[in-house]
Amino acid sequence: MKTWKDPLDYTWPVLTDNRDLRKNAPVIEQFFETARKEAEAFPRKDNVVCDPELVQFAPCPICGGEDTRTAFVKYGFIYADCRTCGHLYVKNRLHEKVLLGLYTASQTDKIDRQVKTSSPQRDYWGLVYEKYLSLLGTLGIANRNALDLGCGAGTFLRHLKADTDFVPHGLDFCADTFEDIVALTGRENYYYRLRMEDVDFGDKRFGLITLWGVLEHLVDPVGVLRCCAQALSGDGRVLLLIPNAHSRALRILGVQTPTLHPRGHINLCTDSSFQLLCEKAGLIIERRFQELPVIDLMHPFISYSEAFIRELVEGNEAYYNVYLLRRA
Ligand SMILES: [Zn+2]
Repeated sequence: MKTWKDPLDYTWPVLTDNRDLRKNAPVIEQFFETARKEAEAFPRKDNVVCDPELVQFAPCPICGGEDTRTAFVKYGFIYADCRTCGHLYVKNRLHEKVLLGLYTASQTDKIDRQVKTSSPQRDYWGLVYEKYLSLLGTLGIANRNALDLGCGAGTFLRHLKADTDFVPHGLDFCADTFEDIVALTGRENYYYRLRMEDVDFGDKRFGLITLWGVLEHLVDPVGVLRCCAQALSGDGRVLLLIPNAHSRALRILGVQTPTLHPRGHINLCTDSSFQLLCEKAGLIIERRFQELPVIDLMHPFISYSEAFIRELVEGNEAYYNVYLLRRA
């Protein structure tokens, strides 16, 4: 496993040449096309999905505020800015039962898992996982239970098991990876088709809980992170990767930015709403990192250089924020 010698190195993102990403992994286009068709299949009135059987118009999931401003509508879903805490979220979000049904067996999520295991993506995420497992190795966490929330196809759990002595645990809804995950965790350590809020951990605590691109999907991010805080050991950490609402990609690509995928991505934390979310959950931000400063679709609109990357990283404008959190 590659080690990062100087702890300061962790501030530098994992870089890969992603110029031809979509050419090398056509399944990515297939994913966004399927996701668009799936979203557009819901009936709309005045371009908005409003059937109460499907969606509910929700207050801000972070602060509960009702005072919002419509930022834009995409595929029938309203992205709204909360005027109270600054959070950007899907206001007419699908009911949780509709969402969990889709996470169990939808074609979109099946293709999403193929994206994650396609070779350029698998290589990139492998490097990201190695970097953060190396960082976690420097923290001297005594409790060696690790839970990957939304473990999907098990790509992170596989690294965790191969490269560390953490005992892998997973939680997900996905039916077609059930046996793969059980092979990694054992049946007793796979919380299958359970929401974090519904799991009884008994006396079990975790030294590490990871959410790789999961928080943005959650109907109740405060409730889930609060459960994570309660399930952590005293020296435990939450490691969380989320899309960055202040990314240069969003500024350049606007509503076409892939992360604005309204069926799946219902929360886009801003710096202020993420801070409030942590406070409400009983967590504090120990460190913050930037990953993927440049996504493939940005290349026609930038001049790529190390100086440019440094500017994006120092300005917290990468595509992803990664946070290391501990109990308050
Ligand atoms: Zn709010």
